[in-house]
Amino acid sequence: MPNTYSTTEFEEKYTYTGSDLGANWTPEKTLFRLWAPTATSARVNLYVSGDPDADDLIRQVRMKRDECGTWIAEVNGNLHGTYYTFGVTVRRKRVDACDPYARTTGVNGQRAMVIDMRSTDPEGWDKDQDPHGGIPFTDVVIAEAHIRDFTIDDSTNAVNKGKYLGMIETGTTTPSGIPTGLDHYKKLGITHMHLLPMYDYGSVDENRLSEPQFNWGYDPVNFNVPEGSYSSDPHHGEVRVKELKQMVKGLHDNGISVVMDVVYNHVYEAEDFCFNQLVPKYFSRTNGRGTYSNGSACGNDTASERSMVSKYLVDSVSYWADEYHIDGFRFDLVGLIDTDTINAIMRKVHEKHPNVIFYGEGWTMDTFVTKPGKAMCTQMNSHLVPEFAFFSDTIRDVLRGSVFDMTIPGFITGAVMDKNTLHATYMGVPFWAQEPTQSINYVSCHDNNTLFDRIMLASPHASREMHIRMNHLAAAFTLTAQGIPFFQAGEEMLRTKPDGHGGLEHNSYASSDAVNSIKWNWLDDKDTMNTYHYYQGLLKLRKAHDELRLATREEVLETITPLHVDNPHVVAFGIGSSGEHQMISIFNGGFDPIDLNLPSGKWGVVVNAEKASVEPFETLERRIHVEGICPMILVKMA
Ligand code: CA
Repeated sequence: MPNTYSTTEFEEKYTYTGSDLGANWTPEKTLFRLWAPTATSARVNLYVSGDPDADDLIRQVRMKRDECGTWIAEVNGNLHGTYYTFGVTVRRKRVDACDPYARTTGVNGQRAMVIDMRSTDPEGWDKDQDPHGGIPFTDVVIAEAHIRDFTIDDSTNAVNKGKYLGMIETGTTTPSGIPTGLDHYKKLGITHMHLLPMYDYGSVDENRLSEPQFNWGYDPVNFNVPEGSYSSDPHHGEVRVKELKQMVKGLHDNGISVVMDVVYNHVYEAEDFCFNQLVPKYFSRTNGRGTYSNGSACGNDTASERSMVSKYLVDSVSYWADEYHIDGFRFDLVGLIDTDTINAIMRKVHEKHPNVIFYGEGWTMDTFVTKPGKAMCTQMNSHLVPEFAFFSDTIRDVLRGSVFDMTIPGFITGAVMDKNTLHATYMGVPFWAQEPTQSINYVSCHDNNTLFDRIMLASPHASREMHIRMNHLAAAFTLTAQGIPFFQAGEEMLRTKPDGHGGLEHNSYASSDAVNSIKWNWLDDKDTMNTYHYYQGLLKLRKAHDELRLATREEVLETITPLHVDNPHVVAFGIGSSGEHQMISIFNGGFDPIDLNLPSGKWGVVVNAEKASVEPFETLERRIHVEGICPMILVKMA
């Protein structure tokens, strides 16, 4: 079957285009619709509870064949709160599985629950909206956080530790009274909070939440269901839905838009995934012998090119945008998903929510695509997905150094790097990007070492003061570069992940809270607090100058001019239209200072290695002295 699934004949016969897959609740009755073209019979199993081990079947309802490979059943009465699974017989084998279109589930995502979604809306939900609706993509500033990391440490007095509701607690502090959590980010100046996976994933046992368990969550089980372990009660399906909505509303009310990390490129276990149980091996790519394609290195790749998988992804993303008011989507390993599906997703979401942003990891990967002529959503195919942005490993690697050997220095740690690459990345158009709106500029995310750890590994003999200068050099470059700035929460307070054995953790996806959590009392250190203020100053500066947030390549080429500097460690840029520079940015990645001539007029310093601000704090004429490992940004004085 896996090969047949991708044929035109199969797709013409079995592509269902309706919007009623799953359980459609009304107070009087619920209509169930399942797509299972290879099944010879199908039924709905109704249960009292969501516990997969509970022997509490209410009854089975036979489903009857309907159009395009679907099966339907109608059950009278108010089923809100009733749990269910679908049962099918395929090749004489009976299987029961969760509904791929489940809106919520019981504990550990094994049984779906029929739900009246309107009953889960927080007060004022109908008026809730993206606080940054209407801003250009290049005005967006993204911080990447993990729900558990954010509040689990003892250094914050947040009450809802590790939970959705912890994300929106205000007034929380460290023991010494420094603001933590939401208040910290409100004051920093970000527009969007990107949250690591919060759909239902499989690597944390929701039955054992009294024990510490940690995972990033890149192991999807139910794509349309909130993760249970972040809720206060994973046993009652409505609770996770309500609390996730409350979290979104709370972030919106505090001026922060919400980006969801979505992992459609693979599932936790291909054989166990409900869609693959109900329609064997339909959801995942296999080679001619039925072996799962594994470009994701997670055991399987999603067959996004198949009509009902493509539809599923479009339905799923638009559901999160409609139902949960999500303002942006970050696609994990989007290089495994075809560009037609990504464009269909963006088109559908933008019909109702024109401001929703889309970006992802566009690495080129080996995968067994089951249809000919399908392009994957990679950096190299950026021209096929003009509204989609990609993580710039180009800016990351030129600044930090290689992602494969953590001891090799980059520009910020004293290495001589290619100036054309530095110019192109600062101008927001690395070689693979069509426009600056396609470049997500970053030097830290959950993957690999934190920025500060990477700096320490590349320059083990430098002082802490020097490490901080290196960090500030990276921040000044990325946060004033053209494109969309992005950083891992905690980068602005020198986040580090010591592994407890004298090393630094570079892949902490299942490490302990001790490794992963944000320690808010880092801010007790005055240098760390200065770094926080440094980031805050850079973001204010970015916001104050339209020239730092240009939307098109054309505008960038008109406005930003790389300046010739006769030193391999130094790059500089004139910023201002028609050659009349209003700003100058200089980045010295060498350890030696350098003196440079300035264009005529008076220049105010707004950024150096220790301080960043909108208001100039020093005035210069004719010459500038730039210290080693140091950014300098100047504005022309009237
Ligand atoms: Ca889960």
